[in-house]
Order: sequence, then structure tokens, then C-alpha cells
Amino acid sequence: MEISKIGIVGAGQMGNGIAHVCALAGYEIWLNDVSQDQLDKGVALIDRNLERQVSREKISAADKANALARIHTTLHLSDLGKTDLIIEAATERETVKQAIFEDLLPHLQPHTILTSNTSSISITRLASRTDRPEKFMGFHFMNPVPVMQLVELIRGIATDDETFTACKAVVDRLGKTSATAEDFPAFIVNRILMPMINEAVYTLYEGVGSVQSIDESMKLGANHPMGPLELADFIGLDTCLAIMNVLHDGLADTKYRPCPLLTKYVEAGWLGRKTERGFYDYRGEVPVPTR
Ligand code: NAD
Repeated sequence: MEISKIGIVGAGQMGNGIAHVCALAGYEIWLNDVSQDQLDKGVALIDRNLERQVSREKISAADKANALARIHTTLHLSDLGKTDLIIEAATERETVKQAIFEDLLPHLQPHTILTSNTSSISITRLASRTDRPEKFMGFHFMNPVPVMQLVELIRGIATDDETFTACKAVVDRLGKTSATAEDFPAFIVNRILMPMINEAVYTLYEGVGSVQSIDESMKLGANHPMGPLELADFIGLDTCLAIMNVLHDGLADTKYRPCPLLTKYVEAGWLGRKTERGFYDYRGEVPVPTR
């Protein structure tokens, strides 16, 4: 199946990154959000990130102009009906995602493939609420999308081979590498990564180390490029908490219980870089630990 038009729902950090790489690869993009402000910010960020690639001579000025011209923004989900593939990248909440797919269904062409960039939610369950579970799968990009090489492809129980092959071909055209994961809570990357981040928050909560000492320890002692708390701020603490809740509920094991300190940061609205405060305060020249 030939895919040329892609609809992306959600213009946050993941949605705009997905729009960036897909437009650069030649796909025609319809980017949707409930917030005009998020759409404007998303396109402005794509512009800046493409410009950085031009200045590093990774792409030409014409590549950048052509990619930007391929991105159309819309507040109306119905405008995504003309696309061949939809990648849902809205907030990590199952009710939000379900409502989006329900609203999309009446506008879709019969061949349109539905996918979700969810980090943890059951693909099979999301698919079962649509009219096309066989044309539904998980399409999980990593953050930041233009930089990270991996895309996890997750088949729901009903996903057919044609859908899988079409999505894999998109990953190949983006120049990225796919890994296939079974549809269990948080798939592969976050099943391993999030408990480590959650444990780092427990380490902070129990006073074993400060924000700085925990991050330094993992950078210098385990050779991680970013400390776990810095990484949590980068991902978004609301997203980290949502994933831990999915692991905890889905696998019913207390080892996945979210750290109360993580919950407290989310309740405070300190969600990390996107709100300028999380385990670090980003409002000044350099990030300052908040504990
Ligand atoms: P984000 O908070 O940056 O962006 C979410 C966007 O969704 C916002 O712009 C919001 O306005 C929009 N939105 C909310 N409800 C909507 C609706 N009904 N219709 C259209 N748009 C709506 O979040 P994010 O980090 O971009 O995460 C998005 C998805 O990607 C989540 O499922 C998350 O689990 C997944 N993901 C995140 C990361 C990461 O590192 N942040 C990595 C991989 C996957």
C-alpha cells in the first residue's frame, strides 16, 4: 500500500518532531491540535530545527523550504480524513486517545491506517474501539524525533501483515530503524527505561542522593549520556507518571508503583522542560536543581 499523506494528531514535542521528519522525507502532512497556540509553536519549532540542519549542512535550504511547504496545520480532525496514515501523538491519556479515534472514524477513507505514538497504552484496546482493528498499530517514535534512530512498531492482536509492512516501509523511508515489540504495557523501551527513572525519583525521595548527585552518578558511573532526572524532565513528568501508572495497572506488580514525589511534581504542574520547571528549574541561564 502506497502512503503519501500522513495525518498527525497532537502538535506537542512528539507531534511536531514526527511532522518534521515525515515532511522532510517527502510526505504531505496534516498536523492537528486542539490548541492553535500549540500548532503555531510546533511549526515555529520545526522551522528552527530544520534551520539548524541547514546550518550543519545536513539538508539544503531548498529541502527545508519544501518540507515546510508540505506541512498543513488544522484545528479540525475531519481534515485528516484525506490521509493514508494517521499517527496519533496527543496527551498520554487513554480517554483522550479514544475520543480522538472515535471523532476521526466517520471521516476516514476505507484504506486509512490508524496508529498511535503512545508510550504505554494497549494498542489492542485502542484498536478494538475503532472500525478497523486490523489496520491499527503502535508507531512509537523516540524523543527528540529528528535525532533518535529507533521507532518501535507494535502489533495489536488483530493487526494484519499489510498494515505492518506499510508502517515498516514508512520507517525505512524516514531513514530510521524499527524494532518490533509485542503489545504489553510500555512495550520494550519504556518497560525498561521508566522503572529506572522511577527508581531515580525514589532515590531522591528517600534522600539517598540529591538531584545533582543522582544524575552525575548515572552519567559518570553508568556512562548514560543524560542523568535519569534530567531525562525525566526532557520526556515530561506527566508522561513518565502516566507510563508508570499503565505499568502498575497493567502488570499488577507493586514494583511498578509510581514514586509519590513524581506524583507531587505533576500535581504542582512542574512537568519538566515543557513547563520550564521539573527536577530542574529552566527559567534562568543554566538549569538549577529544584531539590
Ligand atoms: P505534549 O504534552 O508535548 O503534547 C501533547 C499535545 O497533544 C499537546 O499539544 C495537546 O494540545 C495535544 N492534544 C491534547 N488533546 C488533544 C486532542 N483531543 N486532539 C488533538 N490534540 C490534542 O506530549 P508529547 O510528549 O508530545 O507526547 C505525546 C504522545 O507521545 C504521548 O502519547 C506520549 O506518551 C508519546 N511519547 C512521548 C515521548 C516523550 O519523550 N515525551 C516519547 C515517545 C512517545
